[in-house]
Amino acid sequence: MPYRASFYTLGCRLNQAETAIISKTFEEKGYQIVDFGNETDLCVINTCSVTEHSEAKCRNIIRSVLRKSPRAFIAVTGCYAQIGVDSLKKIKGIDLIAGTEYKMKLARYVQEPLKLPTPVILHSRRISRDNFTLEATGNHDEVTRANLKIQDGCDFFCTFCIIPFTRGRERSRKLGDLLQEATELARQGHKEIVLTGVNIGRYSDEGKTLLDVIKALEEIEEIQRIRITSIEPTTVQEEVIDHMASSQKLCPYFHIPVQSGDDKILRAMNRRYTVRDYVQFIERIVQKVPDVGLGTDVIVGFPGEGEAEFENTRRLLEELPLSYAHVFSYSKRPMTKASKMKETVHPEIIKERSQILRELSAKKRQQFYSRYLGRTVRVLFETRNEEGIFTGLTCNYMRVGTITGLDLSRQIRDVKITEILGDMALGILV
Ligand code: SF4
Repeated sequence: MPYRASFYTLGCRLNQAETAIISKTFEEKGYQIVDFGNETDLCVINTCSVTEHSEAKCRNIIRSVLRKSPRAFIAVTGCYAQIGVDSLKKIKGIDLIAGTEYKMKLARYVQEPLKLPTPVILHSRRISRDNFTLEATGNHDEVTRANLKIQDGCDFFCTFCIIPFTRGRERSRKLGDLLQEATELARQGHKEIVLTGVNIGRYSDEGKTLLDVIKALEEIEEIQRIRITSIEPTTVQEEVIDHMASSQKLCPYFHIPVQSGDDKILRAMNRRYTVRDYVQFIERIVQKVPDVGLGTDVIVGFPGEGEAEFENTRRLLEELPLSYAHVFSYSKRPMTKASKMKETVHPEIIKERSQILRELSAKKRQQFYSRYLGRTVRVLFETRNEEGIFTGLTCNYMRVGTITGLDLSRQIRDVKITEILGDMALGILV
């Protein structure tokens, strides 16, 4: 009987892309991959450390796995395994703690998934700065879309962010290596490739840039869509915007974190742009790329955010042609510069302000979706949601559903939008 392995991922899209690859490396070693929660011989937990709350969540998951599967070999990796070794060591029953430098090679270090008397710790404070290759093609849960890791780490050191310490400095995946994985993903039937990394606009491999990555991926026939996800405003090459305007495959969509609409706060965050820069940048994109979908991240309650600063952020979000905003309530992240800042905002105020921006985001989404009422859009269908509606995404990241008995999975179909239903546009197949 082969050993069984299960996986649990906390945190960001990049963690998901990495777990997909780690899972494949275990499968290639002969393990049978089982769904998380089923009986298993090995469980890998890929952790997140973005806030103290995320770390607490990691500890809860680890403890619940230990309770349910006391005989399983427990391997903990990811950002928390890089900066939280001391607190992880206190959880009895973990067998392996593997920091960032060892994460992607985890399968090499587990000979037999047999419990150990004390955890083995693979950890290095120094994280390589070299460009890298990965060992396998990811096992992806989603059938239509696949996350493709192209970059890791960050050199920007925003004062609220722990990533440069957990993932290290920026480095890129070798172009040939990522193309190999993309080709295999396309062969498996993934129609959309989502470019994933910490700071993907800084991609650089032997003189090749993000635009070169996009153009090379476009050559892979079976890939229908290439999507850029989160990208830092100062790193988007003008050529990428121009290319987006005419490309058949690069989705007209950007998610560009603004974080605050106030220059004083942006400076305190060590962001590299002013509000004016950001506005001009968004205006340029909107002028050049028809029907572009634009999302952002915003942090509410950063130290020093008074009523005036918050109002600047609220007004900016209201005025910009965004289709949504992900709203994050600031909480102190130890080991960051911001955690030492004095002018903190009361948690109740943060809660109220976050609620205001979440409502605004919902309104922006409604406005964006409403523009498409009566129009026909192309949808790459994924799966049926819990309410039984088949849903998928447009290129510009609009969630569209249709009520049908057909299995539309992986199909690209034209849909005429008839109404807006909560977070989704509803339509009929054309
Ligand atoms: S650019 Fe993003 S990943 Fe880099 S330090 Fe700033 S917030 Fe963190």
